[in-house]
Amino acid sequence: MNVLVINCGSSSLKYQLIDMNNENVLAKGLAERIGIEGARVKHEALGMDKVVIEKPMTDHKDALKIVLDALVDTKHGAIKDLKEINAVGHRVVHGGEKFSGSVVIDDDVIKALEECIELAPLHNPPNLIGIRACQELMPGVPMVGVFDTAFHQTMPKSSYIYPLPYELYEKYGIRKYGFHGTSHRFVSARAAEILGKDLKDLKIVTCHLGNGASLAAVKNGESVDTSMGFTPLEGLAMGTRCGDIDPAIVTFIMEKEGLDIDGINNLLNKKSGVLGISGVSSDFRDIEIAASEGNERAQLALDKFNARVKKYIAAYAAVMGGVDAVVFTAGLGENSASNREAICSGLEFMGIEIDKEKNNVRGKDAIVSTDNSKVKVLVVPTNEELMIAKDTVELL
Ligand code: ADP
Repeated sequence: MNVLVINCGSSSLKYQLIDMNNENVLAKGLAERIGIEGARVKHEALGMDKVVIEKPMTDHKDALKIVLDALVDTKHGAIKDLKEINAVGHRVVHGGEKFSGSVVIDDDVIKALEECIELAPLHNPPNLIGIRACQELMPGVPMVGVFDTAFHQTMPKSSYIYPLPYELYEKYGIRKYGFHGTSHRFVSARAAEILGKDLKDLKIVTCHLGNGASLAAVKNGESVDTSMGFTPLEGLAMGTRCGDIDPAIVTFIMEKEGLDIDGINNLLNKKSGVLGISGVSSDFRDIEIAASEGNERAQLALDKFNARVKKYIAAYAAVMGGVDAVVFTAGLGENSASNREAICSGLEFMGIEIDKEKNNVRGKDAIVSTDNSKVKVLVVPTNEELMIAKDTVELL
C-alpha cells in the first residue's frame, strides 16, 4: 500500500510517498514559494538525483498538480500511474478538543476542521486547502487527517486549564492544546522499543528541539503535560518565539513601543527567542559558531535555551512522579551533542548521567547515557511522515 503524506504550510507543500509494505520512501519533496514569484518543487525519487522544477503556482492545487506529475514522470518519477497512490495522509495542525486521534476525512471532519480555524488561523487554512486540492485531483482516494494536537488530548484538566476566568475556556476554548504531538508520540514509542520495555510501564520526557520546540511528559504512553499551549508560543525559548514570559510584559511593550496586535504578535513570534537574545540568528548552528567566537549574547541565548529545557525536564519528572527516560529529537535534539550535554549537566541528582563519547552522535537512534545512569537518555530521530502514513494504513 502506497501512502502519500502531505503537509501544507501557508506557502509550501511537503510530501512523501511511502510504500508501507516495507516503509520505503519512494519519493519526497517540497513545493515552495506557492503563490509568489520563484515558485519551485524540489523533488527526489528513491535512488535518483534531486530535480528542481521551476514553474509558477498560483495556489496549492497548482502545486499538487506539479507534484503528482513529478511522481509519475517517466524520468524522475516513482510510480507509473496515480492509481498506485492508495491513500493520502494529511498533517493537520489543530484538532481542537474534537479530535483525540487520527480520523478518516469526510464532510463532517472538514466541517469540524473549519470550526478549528479560529484556534489556528495560520495553520489550519493551508491544511484544509491541501485536503481540498487532493479531493479535486485524486477523487475517490481515501484520506486521513493526523493532528499535531491529538496526542495531548489525554492531558488531565489540571494540566490544560489556565488560571483565567473559567468562562473563557467555555466561551472560546482557551486551554492548553499542545503541538508536535505526532513527533512526541513517535519518539516515545520508538524509545520504548529501543529500551526493550513496554511503553505502558515507562515515564518519558520527550524533547522536540527544532526551530519550534516543545517537551512532553509521556506517562504510560499518554501525554500528561506539554510545554506548548493554546498556541505554539508557550514554553521553551525557541528560534524566534519567546515561550514563557510574564504576561504583563505584553501590554507594557505595546504601550512603550506603540505596538498594535499585529505588531506585538510579530515581536513575540518572529523576533524573540534565541534570535531576540543573540541578535545573531534563529538558527542554532549560527549561534553556536558565534558563541564559540566569543559573542556573549549568542552564549547567553544558548544558556537561556538550555536552562529552560532543563527546568522543564525536572518539572515533568515531578509531574509524572519520576522519569525513566529522556528523549531528544528534531533538528537540534538529534544533531547537537553540546546542547544535549549542557541540558543534562546538573541533572545528575535525578539520576541523569550523559556519556560524553556515546553522546557524540547525530541523526540516529542511540542511547547516550552511561551504563549506570538510572534515567536513560536517548537520541531518536523523529519521523512524523511515517507516523502519519502508519495511522493512515491503520484507519483504512
Ligand atoms: P523545524 O522543523 O521546526 O523548522 P528542525 O527540526 O528542522 O526545525 O530544526 C531546525 C533547527 O535545528 C535549526 O535551528 C538548526 O540550526 C538546528 N540544527 C540542525 N542541525 C544542527 C546541528 N548540527 N547543530 C546544531 N543545531 C542544528
